Amino acid sequence: MKRIIFFLSTIVTITASAQKTENIIIITTDGFRWQELFKGMDSAIANNPKFNEGDSSEIFEKYWAKDETIRRKKLMPFFWNTINAKGQIYGNRSAGNKVNNANPYWFSYPGYSEIMTGYADTAINSNSFPPNPNVTVLEFFNLQPKLKGKVSAFGAWNAFDRILNEKRSGIPVINAFDATGGKNPTPSEKLINAMLKDAYRPWNEDECLDVFTHYAALEHLKTRKPKVLYISYGETDEWAHAGKYRSYLGAAKQVDEWIKQIWDFVQSDPQYKNKTSLFITTDDGRGDAIKKEWRDHGQDVKDAYQIWFAVIGPEVSAKGEMKNETQLYQDQFAQTFAKLMGYTYKAKHPVSPEVKSVLEK
Ligand SMILES: [Zn+2]
Repeated sequence: MKRIIFFLSTIVTITASAQKTENIIIITTDGFRWQELFKGMDSAIANNPKFNEGDSSEIFEKYWAKDETIRRKKLMPFFWNTINAKGQIYGNRSAGNKVNNANPYWFSYPGYSEIMTGYADTAINSNSFPPNPNVTVLEFFNLQPKLKGKVSAFGAWNAFDRILNEKRSGIPVINAFDATGGKNPTPSEKLINAMLKDAYRPWNEDECLDVFTHYAALEHLKTRKPKVLYISYGETDEWAHAGKYRSYLGAAKQVDEWIKQIWDFVQSDPQYKNKTSLFITTDDGRGDAIKKEWRDHGQDVKDAYQIWFAVIGPEVSAKGEMKNETQLYQDQFAQTFAKLMGYTYKAKHPVSPEVKSVLEK
């Protein structure tokens, strides 16, 4: 009898130690190129008077170094210090490590839908597409008894209500100029709402500045303790479309700092510490540095399907920058989120398998 009890308790211990992630935070920064993530500031774009907003000295001082590995650390220090040391970073095509859109469109709604459904639905071919007919992995999480009511999403762009099908899914989606905090906002949420209402609107009602989305999401994380949180930043894409390379780099650097803030909070809080995975990626790539191509994306822009992702968490072993030759796709992310949380995501549409190396020791 003693033997059996010992045997059973061993199994229980093994099972318990196998699943550590109880919370997941998914973060996207719209249209941020793998080129800057892995190689830092591009000097050809930075030197071009069309793109440097009249002054390249500031960005050279902030982000330039001859050595690529030092240069990228100046732009994205959290990625290249913390994630590179403790997590995994995919998509450096110079090393043959490739991550692509599976969808053929290479712009936002199809990209976010692919991330969240694990499926490149070719019917989703427009940013003004109606509410997503496919059940996202966030909606799947919200249907699990342990996670019900503990899933939320924050996005700078006002399309997330539709992409995540807020109405059907029942997941609160705070996007663009939506107020945060529901019926009982905290004092910080009241202030965020007041400032958001009065803020400068460079993109009219379509999108707010990332700072509002970030602080609303962070306050939500700290006070309402979601188990699944999605945060979508938008400025990297907007400043690139505008041809403002200084602002594009500034937005990327800021997102890196905010991810550090989120990670530092996670690792200081008992609910989250060593029980939370972070997955960071983008909806689409952009063109090359030459001409205006880096500003744009979409089917007619060469290479705009080229993306990247990074992941850190208790199940994720410290492999750092992935340098093996491989071809991965964006439609593998949703199942990877599910597997990190100990679930298998099933839906009526086909779901691509997870990225195996994320969970392998
Ligand atoms: Zn765009």
